[in-house]
Amino acid sequence: MPDLGPRFDELLRRLGEISDLEQASSLLSWDEETKMPPLGAPARAEQLATLARLAHELGTAPELGALLEELRGVEEVLAAESFEASVVRVARRDYEKKRRVPSELRAEMTRAGSLGYRAWLDAREASDFGILRPHLERRIELMHRYVACHEPYDDAYDVLLDDHEPGMRTADVESVFARLKAELVPLVAAVEPVDDSCVHGDFPAERQREFSLEVLHRWGMDDRAWRLDDTVHPFSSNISVSDIRITARFDREDLTGILSCLHEFGHGLYERQVDAQYTRTPLQAGASSSFHESQSRLWENVVGRRPSTWRFFYPRLRELLPAEFGAVALEDFLRALNRVAPSVRRVDADEVTYPLHIVLRFELERAMLAGDVTPAELPEAFDAKLREYLGVEPENVVEGVLQDVHWSDSNFGYFPTYAIGSVIAVQLWGRATSELGDLDAQFAGGEFAFLREWLRENVHRWGRVFEPPELLERVVGGPLDPGPYLAYLGEKVAALSR
Ligand code: ZN
Repeated sequence: MPDLGPRFDELLRRLGEISDLEQASSLLSWDEETKMPPLGAPARAEQLATLARLAHELGTAPELGALLEELRGVEEVLAAESFEASVVRVARRDYEKKRRVPSELRAEMTRAGSLGYRAWLDAREASDFGILRPHLERRIELMHRYVACHEPYDDAYDVLLDDHEPGMRTADVESVFARLKAELVPLVAAVEPVDDSCVHGDFPAERQREFSLEVLHRWGMDDRAWRLDDTVHPFSSNISVSDIRITARFDREDLTGILSCLHEFGHGLYERQVDAQYTRTPLQAGASSSFHESQSRLWENVVGRRPSTWRFFYPRLRELLPAEFGAVALEDFLRALNRVAPSVRRVDADEVTYPLHIVLRFELERAMLAGDVTPAELPEAFDAKLREYLGVEPENVVEGVLQDVHWSDSNFGYFPTYAIGSVIAVQLWGRATSELGDLDAQFAGGEFAFLREWLRENVHRWGRVFEPPELLERVVGGPLDPGPYLAYLGEKVAALSR
């Protein structure tokens, strides 16, 4: 065993400072999307750019590289999953990756992302894609410079994907998506939509919020460590393992705000249950975006649309909204909640059509990166794919290409992780139920702790110790496999016609 003492402490000190700057950025971004008045945008873009540049400089400092070199021996003598070996390994990977990108470019990407976000809001307000277009052109130009920093690569998109999904290649996504598309397009075309009028109406936002909070508290949200705030595009943000911020948008006309709360809870829970020892180190986060989405989609869909779950919660929803649900039977409510019907908006999509929204965005991102679709051509290309895969037509650009925030800020390469995450969610669910037995009986009795603790033990507590393919292998005993997910979706559709 080498003498880690002072050198490892010095490494933790440096990594702690980087983490502090990154978490401070998260807090500024959270504020930007929840509280900041619009005219704060230009100054906020500068503040975020400065923090990003400082974090980048600390994260690429030659002294840090030298320290990581000196600590190489740690990985040979300590178990790979030990705290020390994991910190050194993950910090080195981050260091080597960051070193490829000049801090000026990093700061410029952050600034452009922040200004792009504001332009996206303005474009939506004015229903005018032209407001966002120059920002998108700028983003793509910066993305090319960013990708060029990572040569050689097999596929330019690999570089963007790796930021969200370490170890995954564009070709892996393509093969999973080809199978999803081949099976889901005909499945969706054959589904007869059920009557879901009971989940459309006028549901006061305050009642929806109250109900959502009751569900989340029952699932494990603790007010000493969590907050729920309003935003335009819901997200979750962790400032630390005990400062979890989730956001929501409750629209009066339907219950999608509740489901998106359940989604963000999954993200928050993941960060909340990371081993507290990893605080202020690079291990203090989920394994990847797909693993994150596996958690959000597990709680939103696999648990959140489940009959047993609603056997417990539906009476309370009825109490809060008696005029709307007093006369609606649980079975009818569940059929409406699990309705399958193509729609224009991704975030409102049912579980079966959802992956097709992702496939089309993945294809468009690749086309934009390759220059096959220019930002000016994007609105029409977007609508064309919606028509082709889902047979629907947006009424305007706000409903169409401007519906998602991702292309305005810095999230190219993120979309695939929603669908990959859904695949992982069902694999994890299969494993959890084989180990924990009848979770439906527990859910119907309001007991969700067994699943939550199983996820903590097997997935959450490990943070970034394992790369996604290794973590998946450890938990489910096999690689990424869309088979169980497709079977699960097939069963969903079959249940609707019974
Ligand atoms: Zn999510």
